[in-house]
Amino acid sequence: MGKFWTGKRVLITGASGFLGSSIVPILRNEKCEIHIPSHKDYDLTQQTDVIRLFSDYCPQIVFHFAALVGGILADKRRPADFFYQNIIMNTMVFQQSYLSKVEKYVTCMCGCSYPQDAKNPISEDTLFCGRPQPESAPYGLAKSMNVVQSEAYRRQYGFNSIVLVPGNMYGPYDNFNVEDSHVIPGLIRKVYEAKKNNMPQLIVWGTGKPTRDFVYVGDVARAVLQAAETYNKSDIVNISSGKEIAIKELVDTIVHLMAYDGNIIWDTSKPDGQLHKLFAVERMHTKLGFRCETPLEDGLSETIRWFETNYSSARL
Ligand code: GDP
Repeated sequence: MGKFWTGKRVLITGASGFLGSSIVPILRNEKCEIHIPSHKDYDLTQQTDVIRLFSDYCPQIVFHFAALVGGILADKRRPADFFYQNIIMNTMVFQQSYLSKVEKYVTCMCGCSYPQDAKNPISEDTLFCGRPQPESAPYGLAKSMNVVQSEAYRRQYGFNSIVLVPGNMYGPYDNFNVEDSHVIPGLIRKVYEAKKNNMPQLIVWGTGKPTRDFVYVGDVARAVLQAAETYNKSDIVNISSGKEIAIKELVDTIVHLMAYDGNIIWDTSKPDGQLHKLFAVERMHTKLGFRCETPLEDGLSETIRWFETNYSSARL
């Protein structure tokens, strides 16, 4: 970090979300002007608000992280909302960035945009080789239009935008709502409450056999900022650890770190989801010269510490 940011006007949408919350404190150490629009003042699904936002701030760098997000249950119940709100927001914020002569536009999409049957490790080149999992397809496909827009505007206008794809991200400021969260925040909350209430057992989902490639949000934040400084292509880049761990082993690790000694009950009526998910990270190594190196145990300890300290204000 350094010179690149000096004196720059930086606009961050979704700054109070999961990834934004880890990026903002790092950027605050730079000599840039940070602008964080509130949802109350600017509804990014309304074109008049988007136009006003850019004329109010005249940003040079845009991080667009605002999105309608939710777990698999929410995806199932509100597919139209997930499609419409995300595609309209992304399209308009991107177009207005181009019209306002933004120097660099940075956004993220998610691993769920990849085809359901993509081979592991999931390579960036497979993005458009099949349909995503049906439940998250409206969200995932709306997000992948970022890539089409990025390529099109680069080709026609030379507009500089990049799209990054974090793996299964975890860390502080995540969503800890048990029904709707990903596995790590869900487990941390369950163990915390089981301990607090002296519960002799803990119910976790599925068989424990699936594997995932978890990446610490702090690593993703640093990768995104580095890419903002140095990467200037529309080819997407996965941001992940490139290491797989079985859910069973993850549960054992969390239970150990939180010193919970009750029984673990596997509720196999709950879905396992995809059996294996591992991301190819060679492009991140070669094009960004970046590695996500926070060891899982360290990232988990940090997340647990954060959750215990911020229980009353966490997203529950
Ligand atoms: P995704 O399947 O990659 O979208 O990621 P998730 O984090 O939702 O789930 C990963 C794995 O963890 C799946 O095999 C789940 O069945 C398993 N799992 C075990 N307990 C939980 C839990 O409490 N919440 C969630 N979301 N997943 C759980």
